[in-house]
Amino acid sequence: MSPPSLIDAHPNLAGAAPVALSYELFPPRSPAAADSLWTTIGELEATDPDYVSVTYGASGSNRSTAVELINRLVQETTLRPLAHLTCVGNSPQELAEIIGELLDVGVRGILALRGDQPKDGGNPADGSLRYAQDLIELIRRVEQRRSALLCAGKVAVGVAAYPTRHPESPSEAHDVEVLLAKQRSGADFAITQVFFHTEQYADLLARARRAGVTIPIIPGVMPLTSIRRLTRLGELTGVEPDPRLLERLAAAGTDTERLQVGVSATVDLANAALDAGAPGIHLYTFNEHASALEVLDKLALPRPRAARHNTSRRTAARRQLAS
Ligand code: FAD
Repeated sequence: MSPPSLIDAHPNLAGAAPVALSYELFPPRSPAAADSLWTTIGELEATDPDYVSVTYGASGSNRSTAVELINRLVQETTLRPLAHLTCVGNSPQELAEIIGELLDVGVRGILALRGDQPKDGGNPADGSLRYAQDLIELIRRVEQRRSALLCAGKVAVGVAAYPTRHPESPSEAHDVEVLLAKQRSGADFAITQVFFHTEQYADLLARARRAGVTIPIIPGVMPLTSIRRLTRLGELTGVEPDPRLLERLAAAGTDTERLQVGVSATVDLANAALDAGAPGIHLYTFNEHASALEVLDKLALPRPRAARHNTSRRTAARRQLAS
């Protein structure tokens, strides 16, 4: 009799993989914002996410607060940080130093980004890296130099992906070519820009797979509960919010009704992405937990660990929303 095959011996490998859960945070800009962020971090930690990402200002404008927040996450919580890093406006030497600093505080995941071009329309400093692809290659070089320190392990490198055309890109097809180039340079996974229509994630996934992109593409989902935030984000990212959703939010008579409309639209968006094969959900929290937790509650993701969420936390979240 022949020995059992690997698949027979490990039947779980054939089952559906658990869905990843992650959140995005940004470094606080004031002591009051830091207090509120740490309340949010406590609430989010109780849901046992796989990682939390920490944003990074273009040209390293918030380098010290970003590294400080990441350091505290590593030291004081059970959360695993994914450090965003932008390359525009920084030389390879400066970036290699920042990458080293992140690895030294225990970071093992970096989201490699170009960052937005300077607002004054000027060109980035001479010698600064041009594309996210260049940053991925730099991270891999730093990783190689430190492979003994990393126990010969790897840094997980993520990149941005775009369900709707990047504002500077000639076409969505070009965006997919760029994503493929980032994969070839060593990207392990991608997180998408915000999107507001249920079919957009599935379309991106189909186009990317056809082009040969095999890395996981995780949908970035923002709780669609605030008209002000949707409009502002639309301006910043060039992604048009759904006008019908804006109308429905504006027509809501109370904050509770608006929350219900927004959470339900967000859950529809996330469920459509999961139906299309999304391997995880990355929630843009804007450093607030209430809407994110409402969305999570209604999504009921298949997760390996039971969340430590309890009623008192949920009540506290609702109180934050009402205030
Ligand atoms: P790239 O992949 O380098 O693309 C930038 C532009 O150049 C695109 O138009 C692309 O088509 C083009 N391009 C890229 N490579 C090539 C090539 N080889 N040849 C020709 N053209 C090319 N910004 C921040 O400042 N801080 C953050 O923390 C941050 N976090 C983000 C997180 C996520 C999940 C996402 C989706 C975006 C985030 N951004 C952040 C915004 C991001 O920096 C901007 O969208 C930026 O304009 C592009 O970054 P990128 O990494 O996609 O750049």
